[in-house]
Amino acid sequence: MQNTPKKQPIIHRSFTGGNIVADVRGDEVFLCNELRDTPYDWFYWAFCVEGAAGRTLTCHVDAQRIGYFGPAVSRDLSSWRWLADTEGQAYDHERDGETFSYRFGPTEDRVYFAHHALYHPDRFAAFCRERGLTPGELCRSERGRSVPFVTFGRGRRQVILTARHHACESTGDYVLEGVLDELIRAPLPDAQIYCVPFVDLDGVLDGDQGKGRAPHDHAREYDRSAAPLYASTAAIRARADAHGCTYGFDFHSPWHIGTENDNAFIVRNSTAKDPRADAFGALLEEETAAAASFPYRQADDHPVGVTWNQGAPNFSRYMSALPDNEVAFTLETAYFGHPDEPVTPERLIALGRAFARALRRYVADCEGRIPLLTPAP
Ligand SMILES: [Zn+2]
Repeated sequence: MQNTPKKQPIIHRSFTGGNIVADVRGDEVFLCNELRDTPYDWFYWAFCVEGAAGRTLTCHVDAQRIGYFGPAVSRDLSSWRWLADTEGQAYDHERDGETFSYRFGPTEDRVYFAHHALYHPDRFAAFCRERGLTPGELCRSERGRSVPFVTFGRGRRQVILTARHHACESTGDYVLEGVLDELIRAPLPDAQIYCVPFVDLDGVLDGDQGKGRAPHDHAREYDRSAAPLYASTAAIRARADAHGCTYGFDFHSPWHIGTENDNAFIVRNSTAKDPRADAFGALLEEETAAAASFPYRQADDHPVGVTWNQGAPNFSRYMSALPDNEVAFTLETAYFGHPDEPVTPERLIALGRAFARALRRYVADCEGRIPLLTPAP
């Protein structure tokens, strides 16, 4: 009997969020992620395998590219599971480290793998349709795309919600979806919500790291003394300057893994407003503890002036400095969580819902009642 040579599987990045360079040698695949215009090492990658039905491929990646549960796996770019939770597969972080193997089913012709669960802009569009929201155009991006925003509600309180100032940080969008869902279900009184879910839309669609993008990334666009480089951040600044920002929240993902990067935590930006962040954090901790949410613990917050949090301009500092602002901060949410507290899309959305409930309680019980801390003379 004659052996027919196996066809080489195809590994590519031709999809929303794709980022990879692959060298296929039989059933072994050697992979590097693309930094593009990020001038230092970063960890985001996402690729698609086609034509590997019935085979087992072993993928080798660089150090610090895989989390506790192996890669995120999807067949449709919509539903994602960790490899460790995927039927018919096994992944042991201790043993496998920087490699993983995947057994493709006999009819499994296309599978996506990524550092973490991607959040496809089509998912946000579907969410809006289901909730009766019509996205508008915030601006045209630098690469000519229509950057969406949504707004709902009317009232004195202006709430600005953003995610993906750093393109690769999709945990922020899952949390944001939960926040919106809860605020639609039970509206905040006397409030207009204004939301930009993909601030660096080009980076999200093209699979850029986005973090540290030269000459600077979207998160560093909030220096009042400098004109913005990007149309989306210019539009967000103009919106806040014209209408105010009673509450401003920016949803991010932290560094790859380990220590605080395994948690959800608030990045404090103003010592004067720490008592308000304390009050909000206490409510958020209660709300996440009472729900099937990825947990938040106030003790994990990152204080002002400690390690990397040294006062660089960002969305939250910009909003916090506006005269009508009650409280504004960044929420960082882990890519993987802890081995006993895993991140999943469902638990991130539940965290977002808990966040919205905490905001509602803050507005009812704390707003206008917590004075700013004045420094000792
Ligand atoms: Zn970030």
